[in-house]
Amino acid sequence: MRRSSEELDKMRKAGKVVAEMHEATRAAIRPGVTTSYLNEVAAAVLDKRGARSNFLNYHGFPSVICTSPNDMIVHGIPGSYRLAEGDIISIDCGAIVEGYHGDAAYTAGVGAISDLAKKLLEVTERSMWAGIDQLRVGNRLHEVGRAVQDVAEAAGFSVVREYVGHAIGTAMHESPQVPNYWPGTPGPTLKEGMVFAIEPMVNAGTYDTYVLEDGWGVMTQDGQLSAHFEHTIAVTDNGPEVFTLL
Ligand code: MG
Ligand code: MG
Repeated sequence: MRRSSEELDKMRKAGKVVAEMHEATRAAIRPGVTTSYLNEVAAAVLDKRGARSNFLNYHGFPSVICTSPNDMIVHGIPGSYRLAEGDIISIDCGAIVEGYHGDAAYTAGVGAISDLAKKLLEVTERSMWAGIDQLRVGNRLHEVGRAVQDVAEAAGFSVVREYVGHAIGTAMHESPQVPNYWPGTPGPTLKEGMVFAIEPMVNAGTYDTYVLEDGWGVMTQDGQLSAHFEHTIAVTDNGPEVFTLL
């Protein structure tokens, strides 16, 4: 779906709130901090900006961010888990402003991290930017997934299949989906005013997953590390415009 310039302005505002949630949580990440504390830090940003949470109560999700450490891929519920030196932690944030949604995630190291973890973070973020660079008028949507997959697999990593990116606007998850791999068809042609959340989930080992008994946390089946980066981006006549950056 194509958004009007008025709608895009509202999505810019929502994106800025999400970017502030990133900045605030990033500054709070250190050994000993609980994931529920990071959730409080993010909730304070929503309060300050008068924004609503699109995560809270989403199919019953109890928090305003997802916190997914180490071999957890996505959708972790913040709680009593304490970050430890050497962990990696994925933080997924969202906000609604004037009815329009923003959605973005990052993965950070806690203190000093392993060389493998550093490489995984660097490659996953780079794969996201390679995907974002495909969001150009006239391109086909699934070039995004092809670009992400090329970067991740060239580094010896794998791309999660069951969870994907999405269009975004007046709902967080709109059609079409945006796989992080080549799905076998080129998909829709990109037009000015379309907005997507591009969000590679990259595993150090295989791409197989399972879900925790809480019904939310998605884990790597082989117990290896996973990273997740995401931005909300509009297709414009001047190329991709990232809304979830300050
Ligand atoms: Mg997200
Ligand atoms: Mg998303």
